[in-house]
Amino acid sequence: MKDETRVAVVGCGPAGLMAATVLSQAGLSVDLFEAKGSAGCKFLIAGRGGLNLTHSEQAEAFAARYGNNAEIFKKLLAVFSPGDLRAWLRGIGVETFVGTSGRVFPKDASAHDILKIWIETLGKHGVVFHYHHRWQGFSKTGAPLFLPEDGTLREFPARAVLLALGGASWPQTGSDGSWAALLAARDVHLEPFRPANCGIEVAWSEHFRTRFSGKPLKNLLLRCNDRQATGDVVVTAHGLEGGPVYALSGVIRDLLGKGSPVPLLLDLKRDLPLERLKDKIAHRRGKESLANFLRKTIHLAGPAYSLLREICSPEDLQEPTVLAGCIKNLTIPVVNTRPLAEAISSAGGVAFAEVNADLMLRKLPGVFVAGEMLDWEAPTGGYLLQGAFTTGHLAAQGILKWLGRPAKP
Ligand SMILES: Cc1cc2nc3c(=O)[nH]c(=O)nc-3n(C[C@H](O)[C@H](O)[C@H](O)COP(=O)(O)OP(=O)(O)OC[C@H]3O[C@@H](n4cnc5c(N)ncnc54)[C@H](O)[C@@H]3O)c2cc1C
Repeated sequence: MKDETRVAVVGCGPAGLMAATVLSQAGLSVDLFEAKGSAGCKFLIAGRGGLNLTHSEQAEAFAARYGNNAEIFKKLLAVFSPGDLRAWLRGIGVETFVGTSGRVFPKDASAHDILKIWIETLGKHGVVFHYHHRWQGFSKTGAPLFLPEDGTLREFPARAVLLALGGASWPQTGSDGSWAALLAARDVHLEPFRPANCGIEVAWSEHFRTRFSGKPLKNLLLRCNDRQATGDVVVTAHGLEGGPVYALSGVIRDLLGKGSPVPLLLDLKRDLPLERLKDKIAHRRGKESLANFLRKTIHLAGPAYSLLREICSPEDLQEPTVLAGCIKNLTIPVVNTRPLAEAISSAGGVAFAEVNADLMLRKLPGVFVAGEMLDWEAPTGGYLLQGAFTTGHLAAQGILKWLGRPAKP
């Protein structure tokens, strides 16, 4: 039997959809509100690059990915873990597999397929979808207010509200962070939005920019303070993009924010120890060009060689010991991080101090928050979606507790 207690879930991203799943399975009447005309825009974008749903890493290491919030996530993930996520996906007919890097992907389904099955399942559980309904805050009685397409502000009578409005990157997907002003007006403390998992800006010369934009630099190591990451990066018109850059972008952003120098070092030959490299390039014959010599002796060519020329002085490149140092520790002159709108995710949002253990806002009893709108950040690798799924699940359980309803296992 359907319970007549109505709950409003706002935001049809992974966090909101997961919350609606838990609440509807517990028998509550769930209404899902979404500002856009369809659900899961960012989830679909994530699917374009291979939908990395979660990671197979052990619990302790997994939680550590959430940096300053590792302890909080340790507790949250104990309630809805990567294993629970995979089991739930299997339950709706989506098998997953662990890739060579330990990342978890859907086996045969696309992001579009998953979303379709998910929305159908929610419909079967009686969840009502209200698209083109932008949340606009609360009425005097505390009911959520929505602005539908006809432009008439409406109250929705709900016993509990779950806000899952996303972060502030990729605003074209609906996650535009405009909700922040509404919560700040209710005295909820928010940390400023900042780009996370983003590219960096480097002031390339016109020659390098036009010749090498879009070209990859393969199998290198990037280092910044005590952090390092390996893999391929791509030269862009603005600077550099790619996995290792994203992995270090948070540290780089914070250093830039403090006005500190950014010691970003790039190792173009990470498999060749410095001493061996020095031996190899110690004896260059007089007439041979440096480009030919490096290509033949250490297979350094194309954009990698040109990057050396771009950053190092001609004198440095002539001196073998200094040249070896440049190849192993090339200082990248970072100017900035790419803008928030382009970042894969955002840091900032509702501070954890503003919510209780059930993710209910302390200053707005009955209002819960989940997903990227909370102030956490994590690297790519499935940690972002897992964070959204887990907090959505947790906040829904918090609502059940708040309403005195037993949660279904
Ligand atoms: C290019 C790209 C690739 C990515 N790839 C991956 C990946 O492979 N693996 C991974 O783990 N993560 C990935 N992510 C990140 C992941 O997609 C997000 O972390 C995740 O979607 C966040 O979920 P969410 O539910 O918190 O918010 P969102 O998915 O952003 O959903 C929030 C929803 O709230 C709606 N909304 C906002 N304001 C209002 C309002 N006022 N009223 C009503 N509705 C509102 C929005 O329209 C939106 O539908 C990727 C992101 C990008 C941009």
